[in-house]
Amino acid sequence: MTEGVNPFESLQSQIDEAAAHLEIGDDVIERLKHPERVLETNLTIETDDGDLERFKAFRSQFNNDRGPYKGGIRYHPQVSRDEVKALSGWMTYKTAIVGIPLGGGKGGIIIDPDDYSEAELERVTRSFAKELRPLIGEDRDIPAPDVNTGQREMNWIKDTYEALENTTEPGVITGKNIASGGSEGRVEATGRSTVLTAREAFDYLDKDLEGATVAVQGYGNAGWIAAKLIDRMGATVVAVSDSSGGIYNQSGLDPVAAKDHKNETGSVVGYEEGEEELTNEDVLTLDVDLLIPAALENAIDADLAEDVQADVISEAANGPLTPEADATLEEKDVFVIPDILANAGGVTVSYFEWVQNRQRFYWTEQRVNEELEEIIVDAFDALVATLEEYDLDNPRTAAYVVAIRRVAESFEEAGTFP
Ligand code: GLU
Repeated sequence: MTEGVNPFESLQSQIDEAAAHLEIGDDVIERLKHPERVLETNLTIETDDGDLERFKAFRSQFNNDRGPYKGGIRYHPQVSRDEVKALSGWMTYKTAIVGIPLGGGKGGIIIDPDDYSEAELERVTRSFAKELRPLIGEDRDIPAPDVNTGQREMNWIKDTYEALENTTEPGVITGKNIASGGSEGRVEATGRSTVLTAREAFDYLDKDLEGATVAVQGYGNAGWIAAKLIDRMGATVVAVSDSSGGIYNQSGLDPVAAKDHKNETGSVVGYEEGEEELTNEDVLTLDVDLLIPAALENAIDADLAEDVQADVISEAANGPLTPEADATLEEKDVFVIPDILANAGGVTVSYFEWVQNRQRFYWTEQRVNEELEEIIVDAFDALVATLEEYDLDNPRTAAYVVAIRRVAESFEEAGTFP
């Protein structure tokens, strides 16, 4: 990851890039470049040793013109106010491109969860839930999982919120486990949209996915599910990596075995005899048909972009390319499926979860996956139609043209208050 590239500035330059093609007033665009509000709070909890420890946490509510703020909460030592602001903006345009009636938000705690016990993490999470309580609610702001958080944390937040509010309101948060009101298909949804959009892009570009070679950088929930599903579609996953490094096998890796190895040892490295070990940078610059960056922001900067050899990139992570890298890849004719579409499956199934929670009526996994596929394919078609209509070279700009237009329309219909 490149230090020094501010993701909030990246978001703003992506918006400017698209706004140049739209007839929307600068005053409205200015509004669409900034969060409505950001909570910054300090959580103090008792550690297992009986000491007190403080953690800084944020929640950015970027925009609710199209519906309640929506977006995950990440636990990571690199969380910052600007990162959370950027991520909340990306959520706003993500919910808009897939056309679900939600806005954008994001939260984060500056913490390395590996350094704390489960009991300590529960205290940190419940403390954050208490701080979030006045801001969240099924019609206000609906958090979800993100980097290093999952069902466990969502269940704690739901439980804390419901206890304090003396109610049952499972739709206050999504990404819960099934017993706590979660949806079938939610865990796989982010990786699923990453591969569905890759399939659509290959089809659009007249390329064959069957036998195509794939490299996946990052082997958390999004990356490993994408690897598993693309393998099932007939592509060959030749390389995967995590923060400890990467592995390469020209004749193909078994994504499930690599995941099992990571579960046992903490890393994908060393799962199979005879594989070659690579760095994350090597994985990102392999000569493959499809590259899936599935870790953090700024994984590919301008320099690294020069060496990227993939034909198609499907961004499972949020913000994996710096704007300069994006420009370089555009010149090199790499088809980049932007994060706000490629990883939108997660929030789309979060939307289904919220709908099910509100109706107290639950869907089958088959229904979830079918409805997800329809939404993602429609959004991809809207992106391609805009790419061609505006004669654009960069699919990201096309995605933002569609998304910004939708958010601006809702804002302009409603006007300002007071
Ligand atoms: N954290 C995920 C994202 O970046 C999911 C958000 C959600 O489900 O609300 O899209």
